[in-house]
This record gives sequence, C-alpha cells and structure tokens, in this order.
Amino acid sequence: MKIALVGIGKIALDQHVPALAASPDWKLAATVSRNGSVPGVESFANLADMLAARPDIAAVSLCLPPVPRFEAAQAVLRAGRHLMLEKPPGATLAEVHHLADLARAQGVTIFATWHSRMAHGVAAAKAWLAGRSIRAGRITWREDVRKWHPGQDWIFEAGGMGVFDPGINALSILTEILPDPLRLTEAELDFPANRQAPIAARLGFAGGISADFDFRQQGPQTWDMEFSTDGGDLALRMGGNRLEIGGAHREGSDDIMGEYPALYARMAGLVREGRSDVDLSPMVLVADAFTLGRRNTVADFDFQRMG
Ligand code: NAP
Repeated sequence: MKIALVGIGKIALDQHVPALAASPDWKLAATVSRNGSVPGVESFANLADMLAARPDIAAVSLCLPPVPRFEAAQAVLRAGRHLMLEKPPGATLAEVHHLADLARAQGVTIFATWHSRMAHGVAAAKAWLAGRSIRAGRITWREDVRKWHPGQDWIFEAGGMGVFDPGINALSILTEILPDPLRLTEAELDFPANRQAPIAARLGFAGGISADFDFRQQGPQTWDMEFSTDGGDLALRMGGNRLEIGGAHREGSDDIMGEYPALYARMAGLVREGRSDVDLSPMVLVADAFTLGRRNTVADFDFQRMG
C-alpha cells in the first residue's frame, strides 16, 4: 500500500522513513514538506497538491506538531484517505473526537498512535501486572529538551504541551499496562516565565502512583517506571523497552528502534480489517493536569543558553 508522509522533520527522518523503508506493508510514495524531502521520493510543498495529484496514495501519516495537525488531518480524511497521527493526536480532545467521527463517516481508518506502547517490555509488563494489586508506583521521565528537541520552539508554545510532549509517552504506557483506570488527583506545573507550556511537572494519581516529568535533565537521561505490588516489584526502563521483575532483567533491551515498525504493521492491519484505533486516555490525563494543576513560575528558558 502506498503512503505519504507529511512534515519532514526530526521524527519523520529519525523513525518514520527507516520504518517505512523496511516495511513489508508500505511503500513511501510521496512527502509533503515546506523544507524537507526524502531522496528518491516525490515531494510536494503542500498537502492539497499531493492529495489532488496522487489519488493512488491510500494513506497519509502526519508527523507535524499537534497545533498545525488538525487542518491537515481533516483534509486527508475529506479526501477519503486513511490517516495515521503522531502522538499526541491533536492539540485538543474535541478536535480528535471530530476526526474520529469524520473517519467513521468517510469509511476510512484513523490510527492515533502511541509509539511508546510498542516498546519491547510493555506487553509483558501488562500481562505481569494483570491480577496483581499495585501498592505504589513511581514514574520518572527526565530528559534534556535541548538534546531531544533542539530549537523546537513550538513545544513551549500554547498547545505544544511542554514537558508533557515526552511525559505523555509515560502516560500512554501507564494507561496501557495498569489493570485499573488512572485518576489524577494533584499536579504541580513549572512554567518558564517566558514560555506558555511547562518545563517540568509533578503528578499524583489515586492509588499511590506519582510521576516526575522534567525537561531540564543533564547527564544520564531517565525514562523509568517502578511498581511495588502484592506479588513483587516490577520496573520498566528505557521508555518501556526494558522489563525487570524483582530487580532482574526479564525481557527487552535498550533498543528503541522497534517501536515505529510495529506502529506501521498495526496501521496496515487496521486498514486491512477496516478498523480504527483512537484511545485518548493519555491525553485526558494531560488535560486534567492542566485543569487541576497548581502553577509555578520558574526561570526563563532559551534553547541557545545553558541554564
Ligand atoms: P519538528 O521536527 O519540529 O517538526 C516536524 C515538521 O512539522 C517540521 O519539519 C515541519 O515540516 C512541520 N511543522 C513544524 N511546525 C509547523 C507549523 N507551525 N505549521 C506547519 N508545519 C509545521 O518536530 P518533531 O520532533 O518531528 O515532532 C513532530 C511530532 O512527532 C510531535 O507531535 C512530537 O510529539 C512527535 N514525536 C517526536 C519525537 C522526537 O523525538 N522528536 C518522538 C516521538 C514523537 P516542514 O518544515 O517539513 O513543512
């Protein structure tokens, strides 16, 4: 099946292009980008031109940041093409509900992806936790925004979600593996004085689960979750890729390159089966954190300056 990629930026080039090149299901047939391109692939400067010129392309994968994504997503669905969305699936919950309704009306597939759910240890962690009672959980998601999102000012603009851009990956794993629904009970968000989105957040959930998200991490980067249960301890490290039970390595590795091939395989399966997959539960928790959270003002943040 032919697919087009829209927004040839960091994640498109790091993950989507290699995953599509190795995919038995998909052929990357076009790109849409104001600046980027992929060698050997027809490129368009705007989406409407691509949709008009290439009716043979059945699916479109959007790698844009969340705020500009809705208009593009709507155009794809109105043109009767299947749609795959990077995480988070939109800037607001209502716009994603609207897209899901539109896909249903058009009879096409919509897949709101959560790449971290495809990490190597996630399915086994979910199976191990099923039927166990969780006593406490601690999520630590601390990374250096300058290293992973260099110069991406959109991430600190309204709708960019700030530290919840990576933090929602942790929430996508949590909402997948925990036996019971998560309920946010408290949140504290740190906003740089010169920005519209938080650089750090601390969350509390019912049942003794807490999360610490921080974009200011220097040195070792941490994407860990640790649970104590009535049947022992479980840890997921490396963003869900490495599973430990009782402190011993059980499954997975530090390799994160399997996530996007698994997303494209799932997209192919959804299209073949005529189904969609839109789970907004991670985004609901982010919205709840913005609704319920206390706000602190912290030092200005500038991508160019350390500190
Ligand atoms: P990015 O490189 O800053 O942006 C991706 C592309 O989106 C840009 O190359 C640009 O495409 C287009 N774009 C940016 N701002 C735009 C605007 N205001 N209007 C229209 N197009 C715009 O971002 P990214 O890191 O790839 O992230 C994109 C999405 O992937 C985000 O939702 C992010 O959460 C998700 N994601 C990122 C990572 C990561 O490690 N970076 C990992 C997983 C998921 P053109 O200039 O080519 O038109």
